[in-house]
Amino acid sequence: MRILLVEDDPQLGDGLCVGLRQAGFTVDWLRDGKSAIAALAVEDFACAVLDLGLPACDGMQVLRATRAAGRDLPVLVLTARDALGDKIAGLDAGADDYLVKPIALDELAARLRALARRRLGRATPLLIHGALTLDPAARRVTQAGRAVELSGREFSLLQLLLESAGRVLPRSQLEQALYGWNDEPDSNALEVHIHHLRKKLGSELIRTLRGVGYTIPRP
Ligand code: CA
Repeated sequence: MRILLVEDDPQLGDGLCVGLRQAGFTVDWLRDGKSAIAALAVEDFACAVLDLGLPACDGMQVLRATRAAGRDLPVLVLTARDALGDKIAGLDAGADDYLVKPIALDELAARLRALARRRLGRATPLLIHGALTLDPAARRVTQAGRAVELSGREFSLLQLLLESAGRVLPRSQLEQALYGWNDEPDSNALEVHIHHLRKKLGSELIRTLRGVGYTIPRP
């Protein structure tokens, strides 16, 4: 799941980046409001984590510009302690959730998973497809009760395909969701991950539509 983090405090931003990556998120980090508006206009993120006090356009301006442009991604706002006015103004300007600093990383990760799930119209946390179960929080996959060991990218790719089961996901969309700005994929990296997933989960699960993309049909 690819997240845009907008935070100007270098220490906090770095800590959140490292922690969210360890929790399995792909994270792109920007430090000012102007570049956040530009990135949100063209890139496809599952969620944004937005600090309100930012240089060159504050967080509220980012939020308003993003909603005015019709972008509907979930936005979680980071606010200072006791800033009740900020929380209310943020939610009223189109934020979906907020957290008060200092941030507990586990809570942030859980809230992001919940926001992304709701965006996809899903209330239950587990992704179940026939005998296959994927637990996004525990980052665990089982098939017919047997644990399946996946790499981080394989897990994220499988999650994306299961979340959109029955729909074809174009290769470019999968690559955008899997890789941040700092980790450009090799040209055949996606095929390699698909190949590994088929070896581990059976060749029938993921279908290739030549020149179009990949899909997991509904069970
Ligand atoms: Ca700040």
